[in-house]
Amino acid sequence: MTSDADNPSGVLLFFIDGLGIGTRGPHNPLDNLEGSVPLAVFQNEDATTFLDGIVVSTDPCLGVPGRPQSASGQTTILTGVNAPAQIGYHKQGFPNQELRDLIRTHSIFRQLTDAGVAPITFANAYSRRFFVERPRWVSATTAAVEAAGLNFRTIEDVKAGAAVFMDYTNRFLIELGEDVVERTEEEAATVLASIVDQNRFTLYEYFITDKVGHAQDMAMARVVLTSLAHFIRELLNKLDLERTTVILTSDHGNIEDLTSRNHTLHQVPTIIWGAHRERIAARIQNLADITPAIVSELAHR
Ligand SMILES: [Zn+2]
Repeated sequence: MTSDADNPSGVLLFFIDGLGIGTRGPHNPLDNLEGSVPLAVFQNEDATTFLDGIVVSTDPCLGVPGRPQSASGQTTILTGVNAPAQIGYHKQGFPNQELRDLIRTHSIFRQLTDAGVAPITFANAYSRRFFVERPRWVSATTAAVEAAGLNFRTIEDVKAGAAVFMDYTNRFLIELGEDVVERTEEEAATVLASIVDQNRFTLYEYFITDKVGHAQDMAMARVVLTSLAHFIRELLNKLDLERTTVILTSDHGNIEDLTSRNHTLHQVPTIIWGAHRERIAARIQNLADITPAIVSELAHR
C-alpha cells in the first residue's frame, strides 16, 4: 500500500535577503544577465520561470508606512504574523524583544512541531565564532531556531557534507580562516538537496544579495546573482519536485535597484516549484501568507 505516510511531502523555504521585483534598465543587475534564470524577474512580465516555477508578486510593505526592513520582514515570513503592523513600524537589522517574543510563540518551526511535522531543520551552518561569542543580537532566523530548540549546524557539519554555509561556496568561511574546501554551485546544491530529502521542512537563508545592494556594487551584484541562480537551478534539478515543494522568497527589495543604497518599496518575488505550486501560489499575497501556506501544506496531509 502506498500512502502519503510512506513517502511524505517536504518543503524547502529558500530565503534570499534583499531581492525585489524591479524594472529593467542599467540600474538592475538582473537585466540582460546571462545565466540569471530563475531570478531574473521583472515588473509586468511573464509569471512563470525555470521548471514551471510560479512567480507570485508579494507585498513586503504590509500596510505599514516606510521602507520594509529585515527584522520585521523576516519575522513576518517566519511566523505568519504581520510583524510591522504589530509593532507599528518596519524594524531594521535584528529583532528586538517584541519581535523575539512573536518568534518564540509563533515561528514556523514551533507551528510545525506543534502539528507533529518532523523532522524539520535549518540547513545553514554557523561559524565557530558564533558559538564562542554568542552575539547579543541575532537574526530572526537564529532566534527562531534557538526558540524552537533545534540544533545549530556547525563547521564540522560543513566538512562532513551535512550543512551549507550562508555563502554556499565556503569562500567567506575560508576568508575567516576556517579549514574548509571551496564548493562549486553543484556541490553545494548536492548537500542542500540531501538535507531537504531527509527533512519534511528545511529553511535555508542567503543574505549576500542585501549586502551587495547596500554597497551598490554592480560588478559584484552580477557575479553573486549569476552564481545564486546557478545554485538554485542545480538544486531544483536534484530535488524530486513531485514530492518536494520549493518556496523562494525575500523580505524586501534592494539589489534590483543599485541607484539607491536603501531597500526598495518594490514587491518581492515568491517563486514556487513543485506539484502543489498552483494551490500554494493562490494563497500568497504578502509576507504573512508564507508560513500559513507551508503549515497547511505539511500539517494536513
Ligand atoms: Zn538590508
